[in-house]
Amino acid sequence: MSKPTILDYTKEELATIVKPAFRAKQIFGWIYHQYVDSFEEMQNIPKAMRQELAEKYLLMPLTILRKEEAKDGTIKYLFELPDGKTVETVWLKMKDAQYDDEGNVEQEAKYTVCVSTQVGCKVGCSFCLTAKGGFTRDLTAGEIVAQVLAVKKDNDLAAHRRLNIVYMGMGEPLDNLDNLAKAIRILKDEEGLSISGKRQTVSTSGISTKIDKLGQMDLGVHIAISLHAVDDALRTELIPMNKAYNIASIIEAVRRFPIDTRKRVMFEYLVIKNKNDDLASAKKLVKLLSGIKAKVNLIYFNPYPGSDYQRPERADMVEFQEYLIQHGLLCTIRDSKGIDISAACGQLKEKTKEEGII
Ligand code: SAH
Ligand code: SF4
Repeated sequence: MSKPTILDYTKEELATIVKPAFRAKQIFGWIYHQYVDSFEEMQNIPKAMRQELAEKYLLMPLTILRKEEAKDGTIKYLFELPDGKTVETVWLKMKDAQYDDEGNVEQEAKYTVCVSTQVGCKVGCSFCLTAKGGFTRDLTAGEIVAQVLAVKKDNDLAAHRRLNIVYMGMGEPLDNLDNLAKAIRILKDEEGLSISGKRQTVSTSGISTKIDKLGQMDLGVHIAISLHAVDDALRTELIPMNKAYNIASIIEAVRRFPIDTRKRVMFEYLVIKNKNDDLASAKKLVKLLSGIKAKVNLIYFNPYPGSDYQRPERADMVEFQEYLIQHGLLCTIRDSKGIDISAACGQLKEKTKEEGII
C-alpha cells in the first residue's frame, strides 16, 4: 500500500491533524496557491512537521504518463496513480484570450478541465470505451482534486485564474458520491483552488436516487444528464442501468434538483447514426423536457476501433438542432474538441494499451 495523499483532506480535517490549526491554512496555501512540489519547500512550516508530513503523505498522487496536444489547444493527459492504475484528464481551452488594439489582454482565455472519478466504470454503456475495460476502483477525493491541480500546474495557469470543472471523464461520478462530494468541497475552498459550485458540473448517466442525494448535499453544483435516448427500450440498450432508473424517474429527480434560477440543467444527447438521429426523436425530446429549464448538448458519437455504432451525418445533427431550437429549447452541438487526439473518454488509455505502454 502506498501512502495516502494530503490532497484527500479538507482544510478542516487537516486542522485536526496539524497543530496549531492555522498550519492547515498555510499548508493549503503552499499546495494550491504556490504549487510547491515538495513538503520541504513549505518554508514557514517547522522542519519537523515538514518531515513528518513527507513521511506520511504524498503531495501529488499523479504522474504524467502521456500527454497529447490537439491543434485547438486541447490537451489530454494520461495520469498514473500510486497503485499503477491510470486515468485520463482533459484540459480544454474554451475561448482564446481577447486583446485590445495595443495588445493588452482584455479578457483572459477560458479553460475547462474534464475530470475522471473512477478507474473504469460499472455502468457498462454499450457506446463507451471506458465501459469495455470494466470497473477497477473508485478514485479518492484527493485523486480527483489532484487532476485539477496537476493540469493547472502543468499549464502554468496562475492560482487566481478561474476555470470550470466538468466531471465527464472516466467513471460514473454518482457511483463514487462520497469521494466526489468531498473533492467538490476541497476544490471550492477559498483558501484552496476556490472553484465555486456553479463552476463545477457533474455529468451522470442518470442514477435517479443519487441525483436526489447530490441535490440534498447542497453543494451548489450543476448537473448534466446523459440522456441519449427518448424511449426506454433504446436507452436500456445504450445504458443498461436504465432498467432500474428509467427516463421518467430521471426527469422527476431533475425536477427536484436545486438549480440556480439563472441556470439550466444540461441534457447530453449522444447522437448515433440511424439510432436516435431522426426528427421523431427530436419531437419526443421536446415533449419530454417541457417545463424544465433545460439546455441540450448534442454530441457526435465518436467511433473507435471495434465500436458498434457510427458517427451521425452533420446534416442530420443540424436538422435535429434546428428542430429543438424552433420548439423553444436551447441547443448546442458540442464541437469535437481535440478530435485529432483520441478525444472521447477512455480512448487515450486504450491507445496506450495497444501500443504496449501500459
Ligand atoms: N459517466 C458519466 C460521465 C462520464 S462519460 C456520464 O455518463 O455522464 C462523459 C460523456 O462522454 C457522456 O455524456 C458519454 O455519453 C460521453 N461518451 C462516452 N463514450 C462516447 C463516445 N464514444 N463518443 C462520444 N461521447 C461519448
Ligand atoms: Fe460509465 Fe459514463 Fe461511460 Fe456510461 S458513458 S460507461 S456511465 S463513463
